[in-house]
Amino acid sequence: MHKIDIDLVDMTMDVMKYVINRLSSTKHKIGKPKKEAELKALVGETITKNGIGGEQAFNLWKEHLAKSNVPIDHPRHLAFVPASPTRAAVMFDLVTSASSIHGAYWMEGAGGIFCENEAMRWIVSLTGLPNGAFGVFTSGGTAANLSAIVTAREYWRSLKQQNNFEKGLIITSIGAHSSIKAMAKVADIDVLLVDTEDRLEKDALEATINNLPIQKRQRLFAVVATGGTTNAGIVDDLNGVASICEKENLWFHVDAAYGGGALVADSVSHLFKGIAHADSITIDPHKWMFSPYDCGAVIYRNPELAKKAHSQQGSYLDIFEDEGAHGFNPTDYQIQLTRRVRGLPLWFSLATHGTERYKEAVERGIELAQIAGKMIEGKPNVELVRPPSLSCVLYRRIGWEPKDYTNWTYKNHEKGFALVTPTKWKNGNTFETVSRFCFINPDTTEKDIEAILDSMD
Ligand SMILES: *Cc1c(COP(=O)(O)O)cnc(C)c1O
Repeated sequence: MHKIDIDLVDMTMDVMKYVINRLSSTKHKIGKPKKEAELKALVGETITKNGIGGEQAFNLWKEHLAKSNVPIDHPRHLAFVPASPTRAAVMFDLVTSASSIHGAYWMEGAGGIFCENEAMRWIVSLTGLPNGAFGVFTSGGTAANLSAIVTAREYWRSLKQQNNFEKGLIITSIGAHSSIKAMAKVADIDVLLVDTEDRLEKDALEATINNLPIQKRQRLFAVVATGGTTNAGIVDDLNGVASICEKENLWFHVDAAYGGGALVADSVSHLFKGIAHADSITIDPHKWMFSPYDCGAVIYRNPELAKKAHSQQGSYLDIFEDEGAHGFNPTDYQIQLTRRVRGLPLWFSLATHGTERYKEAVERGIELAQIAGKMIEGKPNVELVRPPSLSCVLYRRIGWEPKDYTNWTYKNHEKGFALVTPTKWKNGNTFETVSRFCFINPDTTEKDIEAILDSMD
């Protein structure tokens, strides 16, 4: 199967050059999805008994399928949490793939894992966690949150025999990311939500815990604070939450999947005060650390606890316990066994550019949010819902109904001009539909923002 009927290496390089040049370019339209039936009609049968040949498959990809994806790095893609991988990281992602490194065990992937650990050391240094704290790269924030929650739960169960027969309970706020609830479901853990989409404060958390009936209080083992809510960029009162967790003997997890990148930015790093008290932290390099998909990270104050929860045993794995095979085994600290060394592109990009460039790029995202905020304040038909936070801006178009926001989103996407989607903001007891920007790409310009706002006329 190594035989290829055309010079696939050259073709790959052509596509690669196209993709690399397209990164962050506004000359290209934002792609849009086609229906499955439309795509099928365009490409026909691709999986056949004898194969359709590399050239044919490649051309179908280039002509039809590649165009049906939305480049998340487009400077006018300001929906969800966009991404903006560096060219260095994208190139090294190719090298990572081509190297077929098994990234579970040092014995097999020492070179790759060494590089991942270098990058991880920098990320850990941003958190201020004490010596001994360390982490691993995961497929994303969801897997990182699951790995952390399971570690916390197993630790809690190890503390008291009775806890082994109880269903665990965690507290977070309604500003928390959906993956917290989803992962608690996977781990069969109950979630109690503090009813605020705004900053989770110490007092509200304390009151919630004090109001718990005794049976529930016994099942409570962790609090999840958010370090930059996905919807609005709000950083919870991490210091306050940390003090309650310490007093109540609870595991303190900080989900900074989106906001964690901002730890590098001097202008906002004070908002994260208290994160150094966390027992575990989630940060997604594929969000605000300019890595390609997929790359999340989970960091532990005491990695040994993660190892107790996650290391896999099996007779054919015994060799990895051997002295000769010893080293850092990423599989021990999260839910996956076989894994790609997905931190490698980040390492290469950090090594190439240096950490100062990362700081500048993140600061630009924060600055763009401030610029957008000022622009919104200066226009008659739009207004801020709340001040910009990190790189998120929530604003309303005065007089618009929910369906107006949706229609506007589709219209701009249809034109290949921009992707900006509506969201909801909880105001008292009502949810208001509003518009939202999330800036990641430092190449987004003021003109881009202006043009998007003007399209709301
Ligand atoms: C995006 C996000 C997640 C989920 O991360 P994935 O990488 O998509 O799995 C979790 N928490 C927060 C706060 C996020 O912004």
